Amino acid sequence: MSSFQFTNEILSIYKSMTRKSEELYKRAIKTNPGGVHSSFRWFHPYPFFVDKGDGPYIWDVDGNRYIDFIMGYGALIAGHSPREIIESIRGYLENGTLLTMPYELQIKLVEELVKRYPMMMGFRISNTGTEAVMHAIKMARIYTGREKIIKVEGTYHGSYDPVKVSEFVRPSQWGSDERPKSVVAPGIPKFYEEDVVVVQFNDIESLEKIVEEYKDEVAAMILEPVMMNNVGFIKPMEGYLKKVEKLLKENGILMILDEVKTGFRMGYGGATEYFGLKPDIVVLAKALGGGVPISAVGFTKEVSQVIYPNGRYAFSGTYNGNPLVVSAAYANLTKILTRDRHSELFRLGDYFAGGVMDAIEDLNLELTISYIGAAGAIHFMDHEPRNFRDVVLNYNLRGYRESWIRLFIKKVLLRGPIDGEPYFVSLAHKKDVLDEAITRIYDTLKELRNEGFI
Ligand code: PMP
Repeated sequence: MSSFQFTNEILSIYKSMTRKSEELYKRAIKTNPGGVHSSFRWFHPYPFFVDKGDGPYIWDVDGNRYIDFIMGYGALIAGHSPREIIESIRGYLENGTLLTMPYELQIKLVEELVKRYPMMMGFRISNTGTEAVMHAIKMARIYTGREKIIKVEGTYHGSYDPVKVSEFVRPSQWGSDERPKSVVAPGIPKFYEEDVVVVQFNDIESLEKIVEEYKDEVAAMILEPVMMNNVGFIKPMEGYLKKVEKLLKENGILMILDEVKTGFRMGYGGATEYFGLKPDIVVLAKALGGGVPISAVGFTKEVSQVIYPNGRYAFSGTYNGNPLVVSAAYANLTKILTRDRHSELFRLGDYFAGGVMDAIEDLNLELTISYIGAAGAIHFMDHEPRNFRDVVLNYNLRGYRESWIRLFIKKVLLRGPIDGEPYFVSLAHKKDVLDEAITRIYDTLKELRNEGFI
C-alpha cells in the first residue's frame, strides 16, 4: 500500500478546505491508528471526514459537497441512500435484527440470484467479500481433495491468508514474467508461498505451463474477470477468460470467479453473463447490497455437495443472512437493478467515459481510458495496460497522484484515496451531474498538462 505525498501548496489548500476533518483526525488517532477503520482510507496528511451522502454526492464535515465516484468502492450501485433500500430495511427492522433461524425472504433472495446466475444451483449468504472468498476456497479444497490455489499477480481478493500472496509486489521481488514468484504479505505464514501459484493476468501460455506442472495439486484458480484493484481497470483480452475456463475444466481445477466488484455492475448477471462464462463458484458482495454488508457464494450442484449437511464443509456465521441486509439486497435487486436499469447504467457509464475520452483527445494527452459500462479508469500511460506489471512499470505515478488531489479540490472524488482504484458511475449520476464532473476533469487535466505533470 502506498500513500499520496503532495506539494506544500496543494497541502495548504487541502488543509484550508478540511479544518474540521483535521480536528476529528487528531481526536481519532488518540484511540485508532490513522483514524480510519479500513487501512486503505488513510492518506497523507489526514483523511477527510464525511457527514452524509445523497445520490451522487457526499458531504464532508466542513460542508464541502463532492461528486462521488468512489461510491463505496463500487457498492453504491444506485448512489447514496437509495429510498427503496432504506424503506425496505425500515419495513423489516421491526421484525427483529437477527432472527437466526431461516426465513422466507432468504429463499426469495437466493432465487433471485439463481435467476441471474442460472449455472449455479444455489447460493449461501455471508457478510463481506473476504468471508465469501474464504468459503469459496475452502469449498474448492474439499471438493477436489487438493490444496493449492492459482492466483493472478496483483489482484486483491480481501483479507483471507492465501489470497494475500502476491497481492502487491515490487519488481525486485516478482521473478520472471512466465513464472512470477509467490510473495506473502506481512502477517501471512511463509508456507503460503508454496500453496499459492501465481500467474500474470492475460497470459494464457504461462497458465497452461503452470496447470501442466501442478494440475494434480491445484484445487482452484481464483480470478477477477476484470482487474479492478491496484491497477485501476484491466480488461481481459479477447477470448482470455473462455480459454482459462476451458483449461481449468479440462484439468479438473475449479474456477472461482471473484465478482465482488463486477457483480451487478457488468450487467444483470454480472461479468459471468457479460463474458458468457460458466464458473464453478462465484463470489458476490458490494453492489449486491447496494451499501450494506452482504456477500454471497454461488456454487454448482456438484460443488454444493460439500456443504454440511450434504457434506463436510461448515459454512457458518452468526450474522449470515440477517434480515437487515437480506431485505436491503432483495429490494436492491428487485426494485432497482432490473434489466432495464442495467441498460440505463451502461448508458450513463458510456456517456461519462465518452466525455473523458473527448477531454483526453481535445487536450492531446498521452493518457488512455479502460472501461466497461459503469466502471473504469483513466490510465496515466500511453496504452491500456495488460497486467499488473505493465501498470507498475509504465505509469506516470506523479501525474496520477496529483490528479487525485486536484480533483478533490475541484470537489470530484474520481476514485478512492489509494493507488489503483477504478471510478464507479451509479444510477444516481444523471447526465447533468456527469457533465459537471467531465468539465471539472477537463479543467484538471488541462492544469496538469500546463504544469508539466502529464
Ligand atoms: N474481492 C474483490 C475483487 C474486492 O474488490 C474486494 C474488496 N475491495 C474483496 C474481495 C473483499 O471484499 P470485502 O472488503 O467486502 O471483504
